[in-house]
Amino acid sequence: MLNDIIIYFEGIPSSIRSIILISGLAFFLLLESGIPLFRFKYNKVKHAALNIFFTSTTLIINLLGASLILFFANYNVQNNSGLLNLFELPIWLNIIFGLMLLDLIGAWLIHWIEHNVKWMWKFHIVHHTDPEVDVTTGLRHHPGESVFRLLFTALAVFVSGASFGVVMIYQTLSAFFAHLTHANIKAPKIIDKILDKVIVTPHFHKAHHHYTLPHTDKNYGNIFSIWDRIFGTSIKVDDLDDLKYGLDTHMNKKETSNIKTMLLIPFGEYRPPVGSKFGKND
Ligand SMILES: [Zn+2]
Repeated sequence: MLNDIIIYFEGIPSSIRSIILISGLAFFLLLESGIPLFRFKYNKVKHAALNIFFTSTTLIINLLGASLILFFANYNVQNNSGLLNLFELPIWLNIIFGLMLLDLIGAWLIHWIEHNVKWMWKFHIVHHTDPEVDVTTGLRHHPGESVFRLLFTALAVFVSGASFGVVMIYQTLSAFFAHLTHANIKAPKIIDKILDKVIVTPHFHKAHHHYTLPHTDKNYGNIFSIWDRIFGTSIKVDDLDDLKYGLDTHMNKKETSNIKTMLLIPFGEYRPPVGSKFGKND
């Protein structure tokens, strides 16, 4: 059975992946109107249009980079290289470890680096400037950031030795989690509390979008929350009503709701936040 799933994902047509992506978006849009976490007073269509522009650039870069991922997966097959190929694991364990390694290097690590290397942070700012976090915020990435993430996904494939089928399961899950964890939905507290020990839940990720430090530099996870627990970067928010989305350095909506000014943010001067991690001249 598991083998069949891997074989299916190895050859999954991009049309099916697009359908999964779009129906995921539609599903969470519906949930957001049914069980919203916050009642934003915003023009949902205008807000979505802006974020979907950045989602499209992300998808185009990923499409162009797909051959890079395929190259590393094939390289590992030919050379029997990559961590997972050092051991003879049962298939279910191979899938779980594969997903964990891809998530650690291809998502958690690059996200942590983006928050700790000044010039990369300036690209990632675009994602954080959304004052109304919802499902469409999930893939709101500056094209430059999409390139970093693509390169780290390729690195993760190379290091992990995950098979192409597992990589495709990961890519599909990763996009699903980007939508799930940004969706403006209220999850029952008890379910959230149990699940967030292992996976990133909508409430867990929302703390990362609070407008000031230290919250901005916590809860980096995409699929598994265990990395933040292991590396001491998790934070808990008792009352979600205390959250305020955005970034203290970029609160001017004019700047953060215009495609051109947003694309230029990484090339502008660095603005240290309150409790800055970088000095002005670092
Ligand atoms: Zn972030």
